[in-house]
Amino acid sequence: MFLYAFLYFLKKSKVSSFEILFYIALIIAGVIQLSQLNWLHIVYLLYIISLTTFYRPITVILLSLTVPLLEIRHFMDSSIFIEETVFNISVILTAVMTSYFISSVNKKRDKLESELKSMKEENSNTTQTAEFGSIKEDSVIAQYLSSVTKTDEEIKEVLLIIKQSIVAESVNLFVPSNNNLKLRCSSEDTQEIIPSGEGLITQCLKEKSTIITADINEMGYEAGYIKKGKITSFISIPIIDEPFVLGVLTADTSRFSAFNEADANNLQLFSKQLIRILQRERVYSQIQRSHAGLRVLHEGSSKLASSLRLDVLAQKLVESCFNIAPSSIIFLLKTGSRFEIAQHKGKIPIEKTSLDLKGTLLDMVKKNMEPLYLSDVRNYSLPLLPAKTKDISSVFILPLLYEKELLGMLVFLSEKIDAFTPYQIDLLGVLGTQASISIANARLHSEIEKMAVTDGLTGLFNHRHLQECLSTEFKRRERFSEPLALLLVDIDYFKKVNDTYGHPAGDKILHGVANILKDTIRNIDIAARYGGEEFAAILLGTESSGAKNMAERLRNAIMNTAFNVEGKQLQVTVSIGIAIFLGLSDKKESLIERADQALYHAKRNGRNRSVLWNEIKR
Ligand code: GH3
Ligand code: MG
Ligand code: MG
Repeated sequence: MFLYAFLYFLKKSKVSSFEILFYIALIIAGVIQLSQLNWLHIVYLLYIISLTTFYRPITVILLSLTVPLLEIRHFMDSSIFIEETVFNISVILTAVMTSYFISSVNKKRDKLESELKSMKEENSNTTQTAEFGSIKEDSVIAQYLSSVTKTDEEIKEVLLIIKQSIVAESVNLFVPSNNNLKLRCSSEDTQEIIPSGEGLITQCLKEKSTIITADINEMGYEAGYIKKGKITSFISIPIIDEPFVLGVLTADTSRFSAFNEADANNLQLFSKQLIRILQRERVYSQIQRSHAGLRVLHEGSSKLASSLRLDVLAQKLVESCFNIAPSSIIFLLKTGSRFEIAQHKGKIPIEKTSLDLKGTLLDMVKKNMEPLYLSDVRNYSLPLLPAKTKDISSVFILPLLYEKELLGMLVFLSEKIDAFTPYQIDLLGVLGTQASISIANARLHSEIEKMAVTDGLTGLFNHRHLQECLSTEFKRRERFSEPLALLLVDIDYFKKVNDTYGHPAGDKILHGVANILKDTIRNIDIAARYGGEEFAAILLGTESSGAKNMAERLRNAIMNTAFNVEGKQLQVTVSIGIAIFLGLSDKKESLIERADQALYHAKRNGRNRSVLWNEIKR
């Protein structure tokens, strides 16, 4: 049997060890038989019950069914037949019931364990999302912060404990607010406690000392607050978190001489707990503010990063600045040596857009290239802006620098004294750095864009851009019919100029003619170098007579100009072909073609003239 048991032990199998269990039962039967002690039958029961803890119900029940077999000899004895039968049935029933009981207990335990496990997993999952989510999700942060800032409830709990421990009728916490004390929290309903100004609580705060009074009325004192019930005994201690006095903790009762030094010590102990709660609240509100600020900053700077156009950039920048520091804001952009208002928001005391900063506060920032914050400028002698300013109490000026070059300035004006916190100033500084990069980027982008459409020698638009402009104008005329004229201008005998005075001299003349063209046409018109020594001008909203006038003015201006080339005065003339937009059926290519034909006509008829295509006799 032991060999058998050993083998099963090696196999680590409980189910298959039924034989061993049976052998043990057999031994029990043998012992009972040998000893002739009838009461030893109880061992079967104990044996069966003990097995239910370790073996499956089926094994135990099967084993219990073998007991009648072991006891078969007793069944033959008719005198104990009934007794034996009852005993055997009870063994089987015990096996069944105990197995059932044990297995149901086990099931419950397993269920509890699995619930506990899933709760643990859930818990660890939520802490993970709180940690990772906190970087991205505002709602998680808001939830987190609101859960940890339930300070009022915590303070009230402490006040209630104090009330019990020193047997007071009300325990209150007052905190400073606008040179006064206001009720922060009370062990009672807060509406029942009304601060009445000054009184012992103010004295306690000012003197930073404990006050204990046996009978407040007899001494002629006032507590500094009124409440429903009568105040006779009063005790108050200042709550000090060096170097700050955070508030005053008071307790009162209608009994006489209710408080003593021991109670004051008690309050002192509790005040430490209150300090911790208030400190934590301060830290959390700082975190909350920082988080809100950083979010605005992030939104603002990502908006800046995404725009390449200066006007869009200016608008977004001022909006973002306003979100960080709501005030009157002026965004000045440097163009050449002057500053121009690129964007503004709020009450602005300046009407002109181009500013000369000489002698103003802005001039100082321009020279120092350092941010400047003046928290109270009401009596400031230097003019703030190049305009009269009134009702301004604080000013913050942020220079926008890129690679040590001043690109512009952000000016924040407020009617309030000390309107900007160090945190706001820090955030604006970061946003300003971002804005400077974006402005430099936008400038580079616009320079590249300009280069792509400009002719290098003359500074006029190039041929490709002229074609694009013409296409755009034709498209527009599909919706709104409006006159348009095209001039093609060609310098007469230009080859000779080159041949006589050299190519560089020719270039100078080309440049000079381009300038005259630029100066002669209106701002809305478009002048381009058409190619070589040919120019073009698109005259918007211009009919034939207007176009002819313009062409003649141009021709005369060029003819009457002496170009100074290496000490020599050179003169040239031009021939001009003019074509007019003929309406919806007209095409860009045919307009150019007509202008070219008119130009050819001008050349054929003696040069130094302008010809309208309409007037050519065909
Ligand atoms: P026409 O009165 O018939 O227009 O005579 P033209 O000599 O002006 O005409 P042609 O087309 O024979 O010659 C144009 C000259 O313009 C030839 C070329 O050397 C000169 N030219 C074209 N582009 C440039 C340039 O960029 N710089 C200089 N210096 N000359 C140029
Ligand atoms: Mg030519
Ligand atoms: Mg020519």
